[in-house]
Amino acid sequence: MELLGKSKDELREICVGMGEPAYRGGQIYHALYAERKLDFRSMTNLPAGLREKFAKEARISLPVIKQRFVSTDGSVRYLFELGTGEKSLPTEIRENTEKRRPLRPASVEAVFMPSDGRQTICISTQAGCAVDCQFCMTAQLGLIRNLTAGEILAQVLLPLEEHKERLAPRTNIVLMGQGEPLLNYEAVMAAVRILLDNTGMAIAPRHATLSTSGIVPGIERLAGEALRPKLAISLNASSDEQRDMLMPINKKYPLRVLLEACKKFPRGAREYVTFEYVLLGGVNDSPEDAGRVVKMMTDLGRVKVNLIPWNPGALPFAEPDQGRVAAFHKILLDRGIPVFTRYSRGRDVMAACGQLALTQIENAASPAPVAG
Ligand code: SF4
Repeated sequence: MELLGKSKDELREICVGMGEPAYRGGQIYHALYAERKLDFRSMTNLPAGLREKFAKEARISLPVIKQRFVSTDGSVRYLFELGTGEKSLPTEIRENTEKRRPLRPASVEAVFMPSDGRQTICISTQAGCAVDCQFCMTAQLGLIRNLTAGEILAQVLLPLEEHKERLAPRTNIVLMGQGEPLLNYEAVMAAVRILLDNTGMAIAPRHATLSTSGIVPGIERLAGEALRPKLAISLNASSDEQRDMLMPINKKYPLRVLLEACKKFPRGAREYVTFEYVLLGGVNDSPEDAGRVVKMMTDLGRVKVNLIPWNPGALPFAEPDQGRVAAFHKILLDRGIPVFTRYSRGRDVMAACGQLALTQIENAASPAPVAG
């Protein structure tokens, strides 16, 4: 019986089912998520006999760290090896996937980025992705499978545990790695509730951000959650025509519908909806594009725009000219839109989101050496 990813109530039920008092479930919850005690032996808040019983009858499954890539700026990109998760894959998808490539253990990547006073961890929510954004390496994998809540949480627990001697006081979580979080809603929200729970991993909601390609029903559902991360939209285009080409999901949820959902998204004090805009040289980086983005941002409530100059890689897009990046930035700024230009951290380890899958694609031909 798997315990990682279970809520406090679920752990209580499990304990009762094992003939133990319900409060033991609360103790396990605290040990797992607040103290990061990731094996039963180290849960010293439980009596020794009970630890033995759990070790026999339950399990805490952690992904294997298959590789670590350390950047000169201190970022660490992790390649985690998961099981095949065959049972979690709907039959239809399993059969389709099997036709394209044999089922193999899934891998996902997460990035740990330390900086002054905080660490930011970028995590994945699916192995591969079905959304097919044209600038994204993960799209090349197709959807392999959804991650479980435990697999999502492990991407935070393991890097925090590994860096525990030098952790900064604040942890930011960004659900911006592989996969579309709103297409794995249940597992993502089960993990998010534990991440944001004061008695769980105690990440402040304002320090957690979920980034979506624009799955409108998911955005509307998220808007109704009592405890939710901030919302970021991967925008990347200034018109439907351009977005249809770069992000085919736009044909299903066009800009008008997406922006309406963003307008209605509730915001707490000092909370913004963030729009991520990857600047692709000669594609979406002109002054006219900037003007259209300005128009889109009007009347949406509190928003900000992050401009991310394209990180050159294996896909056929060009890095934008620095002058055009500066001009784009200035057009937004002059119209009063909070705008930030962000060069992705860990460029030398390919830690830009959307490029996290690169190693897996390369490694599909030749398995990587185990470094973890
Ligand atoms: S950018 Fe995100 S949603 Fe789009 S294909 Fe890549 S992982 Fe999927």
